[in-house]
Amino acid sequence: MLSEFALIDRYFTRSAPPAGSANSAIQLGIGDDCALLAATPGSTLAISTDMLVEGRHFFTDCDATALGHKALAVNLSDLAAMGARPLAFTLALALPDANEVWLARFSQGLFALADQHHCALVGGDTTKGPLTICITVFGELIAGQALRRDAAQVGDEIWVSGTLGDARLALAGRRAEISLDAATQHSAALRMDQPTPRISLGLALAGVAHAAIDISDGLAGDLGHILQRSRCGATLDIEALPISPMLQQQAIDLQRRFALCGGDDYELCFTAPTSARAAVQAAATRSATMVTRIGQIDAALGLRLQQHDRSPYPFHLTSFDHFSTP
Ligand code: ADP
Ligand code: MG
Repeated sequence: MLSEFALIDRYFTRSAPPAGSANSAIQLGIGDDCALLAATPGSTLAISTDMLVEGRHFFTDCDATALGHKALAVNLSDLAAMGARPLAFTLALALPDANEVWLARFSQGLFALADQHHCALVGGDTTKGPLTICITVFGELIAGQALRRDAAQVGDEIWVSGTLGDARLALAGRRAEISLDAATQHSAALRMDQPTPRISLGLALAGVAHAAIDISDGLAGDLGHILQRSRCGATLDIEALPISPMLQQQAIDLQRRFALCGGDDYELCFTAPTSARAAVQAAATRSATMVTRIGQIDAALGLRLQQHDRSPYPFHLTSFDHFSTP
């Protein structure tokens, strides 16, 4: 049986960062009592933690490479939603056993994404227990430029990145709520299991957008957090929601339900003044990320859904909630 230290050494300690991924913020990584980070002068640290628990956040038979990717992706997505640049992360792991095939695949998925974003693993903790993965990411942003949830202003336009509802489509296929052909199930599963954290878009939006959030629990619920924190309301054009070609093959009501309430998309929802439209488009181009304008922030509290001709769209909004959903 692999000892805790041999396990850390073999799967999570790397002698030198890969070429081009050196991160000057890391003064000391794995192996001491603490890691040491040096943030850029004039910057603010952005810190976020997310935990993934087997049976709750992922399926027991889930591919370990995809899980390594997703565990880090959901954390990087929080940095993206703040407009922060990733620096480093820590990994706390509870493992039922030291399964080396699993560890090799998990660390491969984890480091592939970490390297893409020059984000170094600088520490963690390893213990025996039901499979649980807890990552804390550290990022930085220019002081005063964070994309805070409480920063939306009346008159701002509301934008989202990418397409919405694809991860929910994958879940529906897996649960056999609907039947999908193999190719669609595969493409949708990629969106659910290996989401793309919108780091470069978040960075490009710093100083341009007002408020932002990443969509982990569905657009309606997550936009609701911006509205609550910013003490305002919003009107969305239901026909403007970006729907992928694969979701467009489903009935229109289901498309909208998945786009509004489906979790796990990890796209960004953000607000920006009308005067910043060109700057938002430029940020999208610079980060090679599609963005779509879907509505605006109003003084009247609450979330309203309209059709393109401005007639109200009747819809009962529910969002994913870990404590109200079995
Ligand atoms: P301590 O007892 O001081 O908490 P540990 O024995 O738990 O230290 O860990 C030894 C070193 O290995 C520390 O630098 C810690 O950050 C690192 N470490 C432990 N588990 C992990 C892990 N899963 N991934 C990365 N680094 C880890
Ligand atoms: Mg420890």
